[in-house]
Amino acid sequence: MNLFSATWRRRVSLGPEQSVRFCDAPVRNRTAVWLSLGSNLGDRRRNLERALAALPGLGIERLRTSHLYRTAPVGMRGSWFLNCVAAGETALAPRPLLRRLQALEWKLGRRRLGPGYRARTIDLDLLLYGNRRIATRELRVPHPAIGQRRFLLLGLRELGAPLPAPATVAAAVRRQSVHAAGGKR
Ligand code: AMP
Repeated sequence: MNLFSATWRRRVSLGPEQSVRFCDAPVRNRTAVWLSLGSNLGDRRRNLERALAALPGLGIERLRTSHLYRTAPVGMRGSWFLNCVAAGETALAPRPLLRRLQALEWKLGRRRLGPGYRARTIDLDLLLYGNRRIATRELRVPHPAIGQRRFLLLGLRELGAPLPAPATVAAAVRRQSVHAAGGKR
């Protein structure tokens, strides 16, 4: 039984004429989240697979993934990226979720060697957290790249995410080329 998703209800007998219904696991509110995954260093497909395999352990349930997309690096030199979008549900608040994503990046070999864009074994971003809007130094949601990266829009649309205005989508699609990189995971 999945302890996170279950709401346990038991009938407990207190006596011959009494009984009470109670719930012995708190109902955990879960929020729909959408993440982006990317890799342009090492075995890119394997890096994405390892990250996706780790997400349930981080607290992302009911995981679904988009197709894989091959995209040109933006703002840096280097190999093309392999990307995908993932959708799930979580009981984590946004900041703890971001920290866990960053810890996973580290575990999978991502090293931040200074400012600017650099090749990376894995990049994990929080694109959408329900319908929340967050604008802190550490975390911006919806992720500002959504309207600028075509694979994000395509992946989000595949996974039924609430998308930005059609004009934003059309503009991003015009700006960038993207290549589907194989079947759905
Ligand atoms: P990146 O190089 O794409 O991994 O960006 C990492 C930095 O972006 C970190 O310092 C994060 O705190 C910040 N950041 C802001 N908003 C987000 C977001 N929605 N998802 C991931 N990182 C974010």
